[in-house]
Amino acid sequence: MVERKVCAVCGSENSEQVLSPIDHTVSKQVFPIRSCLDCGFWWTSNIPLEKEIGGYYQSEEYVSHSNSSKGLINYLYLKVRSFTLKQKMRWIHNRIKKGLLLDIGSGTGHFLKEAKESGWEVRGLEPDAQARKIAKSINGLDLEPIESLYTSENGAYDVLTMWHVLEHVYHLEEDVNQLSKLIKPGGFIYIAVPNRNSYDAKYYGANWAAYDVPRHLYHFREKDVITLMEKNELIHCETIPMRFDSYYVSMLSEKIKGGSLLKALWIGLKSNWHAKKFGYSSQVYVFRKI
Ligand SMILES: [Zn+2]
Repeated sequence: MVERKVCAVCGSENSEQVLSPIDHTVSKQVFPIRSCLDCGFWWTSNIPLEKEIGGYYQSEEYVSHSNSSKGLINYLYLKVRSFTLKQKMRWIHNRIKKGLLLDIGSGTGHFLKEAKESGWEVRGLEPDAQARKIAKSINGLDLEPIESLYTSENGAYDVLTMWHVLEHVYHLEEDVNQLSKLIKPGGFIYIAVPNRNSYDAKYYGANWAAYDVPRHLYHFREKDVITLMEKNELIHCETIPMRFDSYYVSMLSEKIKGGSLLKALWIGLKSNWHAKKFGYSSQVYVFRKI
């Protein structure tokens, strides 16, 4: 384990422990979260070594081996995914119509395939070799290992995308600095992360599934993301809601608590209602490179 004492947003060494969530998915271990006493940023304070974190990522559950009730969930999941992939492209097209797009943490490549079919020239980086293999076989994409982040050409990309990836990276400040260098002046970066200020986060407390320790190393609010990016020549343009995530995260959180699907839907709905005050369960932050 590595202990993290310094705030990655403001550099302060003053922090206090605020929450002790459990890794319900894999290890059942407790991973405390600390809060910066100066800027309020939260992070997972005792994390596995970078070379050991792979053991904390469960292998994916695929649609093929599912029972009937999971079958329905999977059916809905695929429907929602198809909708949200198109939605992501609409968010991009609202600002820029075509060019070279780099997706970081592409997984099995569904988003990149959508981008490619919408006329974009695409590149994708993915740390997991198995996921890269699947991306090749089902989506025909040649994803590159994550190390390419530091060998890619600076100022080459019109758009960078990170869909629920930034909360997983070990070297937050260095990586954000590098991301900024890769974008063309006037280009955009789209960053989706969970919002720990949301109603569902507050309601579920340590059982909020999007804490997802120790895989999630940081627990952002909108202001944390903006502070971090604006230190790197990235100007905040827009915050976009991800309205399905409140339901999905509430379902996972109720599963932890042994609660019902109905309760999850109710909390998801309430979270979206209260978003004006707290923000949505997950949000996409759009920044423009100076
Ligand atoms: Zn701080």
